[in-house]
Amino acid sequence: MKNAECKKCLNKFQQKDIYTIQQFQYRKIPTYKWSLNFFKKLEINEWDSFCEKCITEYAEKSKEGWDKLKA
Ligand SMILES: [Zn+2]
Repeated sequence: MKNAECKKCLNKFQQKDIYTIQQFQYRKIPTYKWSLNFFKKLEINEWDSFCEKCITEYAEKSKEGWDKLKA
């Protein structure tokens, strides 16, 4: 049953396919603390659900933001 919804694209998908920004705590750069702050500005918190496509977009977007800051 597709009972989960992506906060960004509003697509429905299965609960087991949910991604959250919590997965970013496993990447070294940007730091998780920085990532949390970055997403806070976009009004996204650790409990928001996203599909794989959108979380990948956010991963790139946040990395770009970090690179810009550190350039
Ligand atoms: Zn999505």
